[in-house]
Amino acid sequence: MASTSDAAELVIENVVKEYPTPAEPLRVLSGVTFSMHRGENLAIVGPSGSGKSTLLSILGTLEPPTSGTVRLAGEEPLKLHEAVLAAFRRRHIGFVFQDHHLLPQCTVLENALVPFLADGAATADDQKRASDLLTRVGLAGRLAHRPAELSGGERQRVAIARALVRGPTLLLADEPTGNLDRSTARSITELLLELQAERNAILVVVTHSQALAESLQRRMELDAGRLVSTA
Ligand code: ADP
Ligand code: MG
Repeated sequence: MASTSDAAELVIENVVKEYPTPAEPLRVLSGVTFSMHRGENLAIVGPSGSGKSTLLSILGTLEPPTSGTVRLAGEEPLKLHEAVLAAFRRRHIGFVFQDHHLLPQCTVLENALVPFLADGAATADDQKRASDLLTRVGLAGRLAHRPAELSGGERQRVAIARALVRGPTLLLADEPTGNLDRSTARSITELLLELQAERNAILVVVTHSQALAESLQRRMELDAGRLVSTA
């Protein structure tokens, strides 16, 4: 047991999250523990309001837990100062949301370069990585298009390229196929899984889709604030 968790790249221990309310605090997560190795993927399911997005935000270091530990790539990111944490997040974590969150005024290529911009202008090497990845997701002919000129599935492909462009350790996806028709959802799911395997990343996907959940190696359900294995 100890050696397994020592080797794990993502380790979540006893994570509790409470939101303040005028009465008692609202406890959303009450002791979530799991760990993952590189190359593994996990589906998290659970009813609406069960805390799935909250858990992803904590894994993504966007939000601190009330208590508990998050370790990723040998660090405890939530102990880092904000500027260092932001750099850690850009280096190690990619996000894909249900709504693509692309910048409407920017081209496909510019959107995929966004993760580089906080560290200064994108280099020629960054541009090559972004355009290679956009080609890999099937958008070679669309680099100069704007999001409004793309289909829902194509927008999600841009969002996936943006999430992966810096080679993250951890890829987080919150209902990534929630707005797509079934056949587009299937192709986006296949793409996510192929790229995750190619890059040996960890993938955690929150989903309502049984089909998506069943294509992943591990499945867990949030039940009364705890994560229980359903596989
Ligand atoms: P899910 O993604 O499973 O639908 P969420 O993680 O979004 O669930 O929300 C879990 C619970 O936490 C819900 O009851 C929600 O209202 C509450 N919640 C989420 N974010 C906040 C917040 N910032 N402040 C207060 N309550 C919140
Ligand atoms: Mg949610």
